[in-house]
Amino acid sequence: TIRTRIAPSPTGDPHVGTAYIALFNYCFAKSQGGEFLLRIEDTDQQRSTPESEQAILDSLRWLGLDWDEGPDVGGPCGPYRQSERSEIYREHCEQLVAKGLAFRCYRTPEELDALRESRQAEGQFTALKPSDLRLPAEEEARREAAGEPFVIRMVVPEDDGRCEIDDLLRGKIELDWGQVDAQILLKSDGMPTYHLANVVDDHLMGITHVLRGEEWINSAPKHKLLYEYFGWEMPVLCHLPLLRNPDKSKLSKRKNPTSILYYQRMGFLPEALLNYLGRMGWSMPDESEKFDLATMIANFDIQRVSLGGPIFDVEKLRWLNGLWLRENLSPEQMVERLQDWALNRDTLMKMIPHLQPRIEVFTDIAPLAGFFLSGMLPLKPEDFSVSALEEEQLVTVLQCTLWRFEAEQNWQRDVLFEAIKQLANGLGVKMKDFMPPLFVAIAGTTASISVVDSMEVLGPEISRARLRHAIE
Ligand code: ATP
Ligand code: GLU
Repeated sequence: TIRTRIAPSPTGDPHVGTAYIALFNYCFAKSQGGEFLLRIEDTDQQRSTPESEQAILDSLRWLGLDWDEGPDVGGPCGPYRQSERSEIYREHCEQLVAKGLAFRCYRTPEELDALRESRQAEGQFTALKPSDLRLPAEEEARREAAGEPFVIRMVVPEDDGRCEIDDLLRGKIELDWGQVDAQILLKSDGMPTYHLANVVDDHLMGITHVLRGEEWINSAPKHKLLYEYFGWEMPVLCHLPLLRNPDKSKLSKRKNPTSILYYQRMGFLPEALLNYLGRMGWSMPDESEKFDLATMIANFDIQRVSLGGPIFDVEKLRWLNGLWLRENLSPEQMVERLQDWALNRDTLMKMIPHLQPRIEVFTDIAPLAGFFLSGMLPLKPEDFSVSALEEEQLVTVLQCTLWRFEAEQNWQRDVLFEAIKQLANGLGVKMKDFMPPLFVAIAGTTASISVVDSMEVLGPEISRARLRHAIE
């Protein structure tokens, strides 16, 4: 059986790129009666969080993608979370060391910097090879006896011949061995790197086809070598084109919302988002634009993927969403969807404490609360004239707030307020000048409930998007 997987790292918001790659893995497997797995690649302990993992699982489920095996549903090849498999990676790494295919490296960061610099001075390739890294035997023994920290690196070819990689879509790809360095497999804390864990798991989990983003092409030679070292058959590789902004650059949150949570919170339908992702580099045989998951599976052929970078255009997605909304939902279903989205008790309970003190009759609520249920606000440059700041300073205030809040994991009013105070302090702007532009960006007016309360109710996705919108 064909087995594919999505292997997200839980280091941030669930990315539309992850959903796109998951969709193609799903369709590839399901169109051939195969299985689709989900594995969490959380070997970066500093950046991985359980919240991010949960959000990724929830988002993929919301879209309608289901996995046959995974951390939450189990399966015969578990655990499906790499942080729970460190013993497996250590054992496999030891096997390579025993065979002379990997070695302990005691080099210090300073030594590595110096090595890289001298390599750079020499010529084109800066990859560090085993011969650069090995220490004289007595020095290695001294460092070992002194209990100095070490990593385990893989042996790689020293010459600069070519490595051939077969890709399902691209055919043969040639890469230079000269650019492949003696990759760390096990870090000094005993945790594996992506390369080791990924290869070991794909093998042990019986993955037959790896469909992933093209940013991983350069890792393929290392992976190929690792499969050879272990004596395993390598899965078929297929590198999909990355999503792009309308200006053709790689999709990035500086130019486009990339979090699935944003699209959910904005009121996109999961069917429409999935449909749109299915059109990223792929098309139906009859070129129809609107199709559901079952239809995509029934017509799926990986060879119909085109390699030109697919453009993720929110305007086109809105148009497609409009079709789904008008053609596929009865009024009753629409009411249910609206309730799931935001017109429900939970959302009202967040809003009411801020509205109740300000109204006399219920009808006062609509104008006060409208901005809670809106997407981007129609802003004009004059709207910011409430601020005493010069335009340049105004942009700085909004930009710094956006940067700071993009990094904020703990989205609570007090945390946000502290951050604003620190930013104002750092920029030397008085709070009474700092706050009005934030009010306008978030609520459209300074005559609104407290801006940090508003941001807490709106949530990080809409708040960040409004700050970005205000800067544009
Ligand atoms: P940045 O925005 O800082 O460049 P990023 O967009 O690459 O970061 P990551 O957190 O590194 O975001 O990526 C999260 C996941 O989304 C990864 O699995 C990555 O492969 C995928 N991804 C990121 N950008 C794209 C893209 N343009 N197309 C397809 N997948 C992407
Ligand atoms: N953890 C990697 C990622 O986040 C997986 C890459 C792969 O599919 O091999 O993209």
